[in-house]
Amino acid sequence: MDVLAVMSRHDHEQVVFCNEPAVGLKAIIAIHDTTLGPSLGGCRFYPYPTEEQALSDVLRLSRAMTYKASLAGLNLGGGKSVIIGDPETDRSEALFRAFGRCVDGLGGRYITAADVNTSVTDMEWVRRETQYVTGLPETLGSSGDPSPVTAYGVLVGIKAAVMTQLDIDNLRGIKVAVQGVGHVGRNLCRLLREAGAELFISDINQAAADGVVAELGATWVDHREIHAAPVDVLAPCAMGGALNEVTIPEIKASIIAGAANNQLARPTTDGEALYRRGILYAPDYAVNAGGLINLANELEGYDRKRALAKVEGIHDTLMRIFRMSAEEERPTHQVADGLAEGRIRQAAGGKSMHPATAVRTAERQ
Ligand code: NAD
Repeated sequence: MDVLAVMSRHDHEQVVFCNEPAVGLKAIIAIHDTTLGPSLGGCRFYPYPTEEQALSDVLRLSRAMTYKASLAGLNLGGGKSVIIGDPETDRSEALFRAFGRCVDGLGGRYITAADVNTSVTDMEWVRRETQYVTGLPETLGSSGDPSPVTAYGVLVGIKAAVMTQLDIDNLRGIKVAVQGVGHVGRNLCRLLREAGAELFISDINQAAADGVVAELGATWVDHREIHAAPVDVLAPCAMGGALNEVTIPEIKASIIAGAANNQLARPTTDGEALYRRGILYAPDYAVNAGGLINLANELEGYDRKRALAKVEGIHDTLMRIFRMSAEEERPTHQVADGLAEGRIRQAAGGKSMHPATAVRTAERQ
């Protein structure tokens, strides 16, 4: 693979390959854009079948972090890392310390955190080698698991969408379908229940679904049908690609707002299809920014109250996106991309992120 050509196609600043065979470390760190500040993004641990797949994932994810940080008003850029390996068998202190040394070598251009298949404990090992890590345990006075804060941001986003689409200023009696009740989904269900919403939930992990049904009196829905549940709001909180050519025509909700990353399988066509159907889509990286805001707060000395106050800004960000979408008659995901890019352009002194930004944005996943 021509790595530099691939980097150019998506405007990445730097890609670092880390290799320490003695401890089994094979990792890639991608820094997409540092115009607004140092790049921040989690570290995934995954048994990628090929290095190409690992590279393509880390490039895509780091770019999404640039947009998320920009739209959230953070002075951070976009970065991400992947460790290639089996998280069940390959996890060790030595491996994460070696990864920490790689991160340290970048001198602060990249700050790491826990992500899919990595934990705050793994990050404690990373911390032994570098200060450029966030999302450390609460026992160390840090921010801990970001999921409850992400869930709170999604709640704020759902309220903004309900206000815009249904002209209702509270969630009492609003029917919400939550797809995936893992770390974020379950916390979101609790917040929605407190706010008086009626819950419909699904999970491919039956025990997780049963737990939420028992705890909160939610209605269980088969995971193959949750997207088509007769509800007001669909909250995708599982994996990416939930909004696609098969599911979109079957959606009955008039609002989509959830935590999952990369919800649109094909950003251009699927975002436009939702818009044409009159479904109000809260762009994923706008509504799920709570976790990143929480991690960013830790960099300034963690203060939960300050973090939650900043997360409440998701309301105003979404209201602005919804208003602009209505006024300019274009899909919300396009408006969000434009706002994120505009802030970076301004910080760069008017320079375009890239001459073909519009096309690239449309293709971004
Ligand atoms: P998680 O792994 O704890 O939960 C995901 C849940 O979805 C699991 O219980 C899984 O069994 C279930 N699931 C998977 N496929 C499903 C399907 N087809 N139908 C129904 N359920 C399914 O993950 P999480 O931390 O809760 O994150 C959820 C999503 O939100 C992910 O896309 C993640 O990238 C995104 N996100 C998370 C955070 C955070 O703070 N954790 C922040 C931003 C974005």
